[in-house]
Amino acid sequence: MAAGSEAFRPGVCFRFDDKREIGQYRKLAALFDRYSTKFTLAMTCQNVVNDPEFSAMLREFAANGHEIGDHTASHSTFRIRANNPEEAKAFAREKCVDHHDNITFFLHYELIDTPLNRPFVASLQGNKLRDVPEEFSGLFRKRQEELVCHVATGKVYRVYADKEQFKLKSFWGEDNVRLADEHKSSFLHIHKRAGICSTEESLRFLARVSRDAFRKMRLPLPRFWMQPGGYEPFQQPELIRKIYGEEFGYLGADCYPKAAFLTVGEPESGRAVFSMTPVFHPTPENSDFFTMRRRVASTLAKRCVFINCSHLASRNVPGGFEGLLKRYEELLIFCRDNQIPIRTCSEWAKILYKTSHPASDQITLPPIQHDWDQNNIPDGYDPGKAAVWHDNAFVRTSSGELFRVNNLGGSNSGEKKLTLRAKGTSGDTLILNVQARTWEKTVPAGRIVRKLSRTGEWETVTFAVTLPDDAALVHLRLEAILQGKGIAAAPRF
Ligand SMILES: [Zn+2]
Repeated sequence: MAAGSEAFRPGVCFRFDDKREIGQYRKLAALFDRYSTKFTLAMTCQNVVNDPEFSAMLREFAANGHEIGDHTASHSTFRIRANNPEEAKAFAREKCVDHHDNITFFLHYELIDTPLNRPFVASLQGNKLRDVPEEFSGLFRKRQEELVCHVATGKVYRVYADKEQFKLKSFWGEDNVRLADEHKSSFLHIHKRAGICSTEESLRFLARVSRDAFRKMRLPLPRFWMQPGGYEPFQQPELIRKIYGEEFGYLGADCYPKAAFLTVGEPESGRAVFSMTPVFHPTPENSDFFTMRRRVASTLAKRCVFINCSHLASRNVPGGFEGLLKRYEELLIFCRDNQIPIRTCSEWAKILYKTSHPASDQITLPPIQHDWDQNNIPDGYDPGKAAVWHDNAFVRTSSGELFRVNNLGGSNSGEKKLTLRAKGTSGDTLILNVQARTWEKTVPAGRIVRKLSRTGEWETVTFAVTLPDDAALVHLRLEAILQGKGIAAAPRF
């Protein structure tokens, strides 16, 4: 095992988002304090800054070591609400404000030059889009609120399917679009994950408002930024790092990319990703203890930090809010009994982004002795159908899948080796399929075939894989084609 992955111990972060009731937070804090563990609150500061009772509670939590993070001013990276006329006057002077209605201020966005933004031609009439090519109209009907850019003006609009036609709203969702008729007009379909983001000025303004609100509440300045909602386009980690990290001194952030999970062994020196992705499912709100335990065990075995992201929604939990607290207590006990570290977002960021891990030339598989969820299969592995874990190896008696490991962390990019031990019949074939999860998508990273040369004896099988530069996580699948009666394969430790 590489030295870097031994040095680091992944763990759990309990994060609670948005504004909930004071009474619920108090009970939650009492529970966490009882187990001497810390949680993180993702706060929208404009909603709490003028609430003395709420800010007093936040101060108390911060003093006890819990973290109050920045979930943006008004739960958006593209708009902000003013709390009073003086503030509205000040906000109106900001250069990044596109327009406002004295309460809500709509902020500038910027297109990103990427082939993921795809051109099409349609006709335009007032706020209607007609003659949209089938490929795009199907998408707009399926996923409401897609974004398109009107190329001639550079403005971006939201598209809503409205019976047989499509209606445009402003980028911010206002129903005020009146464009001149145009028969064949050029558009770009905007990729929400990679095709548009806030301008630097907009982000800087949002960071200043948060800082001022935290100061006013006499809270330690926020050290962690959490992107709100799933409905807005994703922010780009490079820009978030520049504004929040370099200019405002935040230690970490998450930008909701599907692909970029926080992994151990990342970043390699000089390549900090500054991005953490929360896990919304499962959380104790929608899963019982056994499901949670399995997910935590599996995530940690794959050298990723498990960020439990909750909204304290207890409506569907038996026993309501008290029932939810009980589920958290079971999890806290599980972590304590297995010495699983629980840290706040910033504490994890400090460890992961300020430490450089020696790059390894190995893809390190989850350890086979790790079975915290007690299902008699090493955590992190999914055996293939008809494959079993027996005598410290995955075994099968017919051709097919031996095991898979999805979302394995800590492998970085570049040329890697993966070493297994295997026992079968001379001529048996092992096939390793590798996929890499990058910022934008999952890409194939190789299908490597190895033949066994001995019958009935363990032998070492090495696969060489090249992972792309921006690989965050890898998926592995091992298959076997049998000549004889059976094959066994396992990581070589
Ligand atoms: Zn939120």
